[in-house]
Amino acid sequence: MFIKVHEISPKCIKIYFHECVINYNIFVIAEKSNMKTRTILILSLLICTLVSCQLFIKNKGTYRIASTRNNVCKELYGNVVLYAIFIDTKSTNTQPWSDYDIRSTLDSIQMATKWLESKASENGIPLNISIKYHQNKKKIPIALELPKKTLSGSLFYPTLPIGVAHLSRWADKVAKLACDALPADTSSIITTKNKLSDKERLIARLRDIYKTDNVVLMFFVNNYFKEEMSVTFYTESMTDIEYSIVSFKNPTVIAHEFLHFFGAWDLYITPFDKKRSLKRKKRLAMKEFPGEIMAFTYRDLDSLTISPFTKYLIGWDNRLDEKYERMFFGKKVHVLKY
Ligand SMILES: [Zn+2]
Repeated sequence: MFIKVHEISPKCIKIYFHECVINYNIFVIAEKSNMKTRTILILSLLICTLVSCQLFIKNKGTYRIASTRNNVCKELYGNVVLYAIFIDTKSTNTQPWSDYDIRSTLDSIQMATKWLESKASENGIPLNISIKYHQNKKKIPIALELPKKTLSGSLFYPTLPIGVAHLSRWADKVAKLACDALPADTSSIITTKNKLSDKERLIARLRDIYKTDNVVLMFFVNNYFKEEMSVTFYTESMTDIEYSIVSFKNPTVIAHEFLHFFGAWDLYITPFDKKRSLKRKKRLAMKEFPGEIMAFTYRDLDSLTISPFTKYLIGWDNRLDEKYERMFFGKKVHVLKY
């Protein structure tokens, strides 16, 4: 979920840590339902506030990968809205958004979405990504302080699960302010008294306004430090709304985060990938897919591509080649054919 940008630095290591947690969870899903699973599920509970760990067993030995065809953004095709919210914080690492900063970020978003559309077109996938952004009476940024002074500080203090929960509440406040600025909801079917989160309300309104299910919710903070992070949350969850907090204007980072919404995994090795088997899998993936956007986020976008593995995860291929299935999950585990 988390990405390394530009260069290795101590703050990127923090980013890696979260990567590790998420990826670990994904691999849990690929395990068979036997005694081993029981042990793994107990371990998973320790990180359940971060992502909800689910086993999706269809038939004996056949599994659905948790991030695939899940949450708000399921398969990457058709009409998709990328909804950007620019957030002003007074943190030490950020600056208020200027007109120029917003314009240049929108340019980067456009480069990212054009690249994604061209890759879709090469694969015969119809894809049209519209870029929309929050504004209230011509004022674009929303001013709201992060829980701690920086994004990485907010995420890791005092612990990662608590940091994730704090950021989720912060994102809900942002979503509420964004929702309040949208035209009034005239839908007559919303009479239920269920407790929707403000992120859910915002997504529901955006789906209604833009007439598409696929709404990519990205929060942009104006960061001037290379070492900050970009984060996508809850892509495997069935209860929490997926969203990103992006600190960079780099089109590769934006496209990379965007693909996470549709189920893509990170495919690079992190210092926190302790398990030898996981490192081996990622090493193989990086060798097998030398231009993969989910593995090489510091490269120029035009030099990158989307691997067959990522294509399966984001719904561009209905089945995963046996070779890659074996590479990631071993001989005994089979993933769903759609
Ligand atoms: Zn990532």
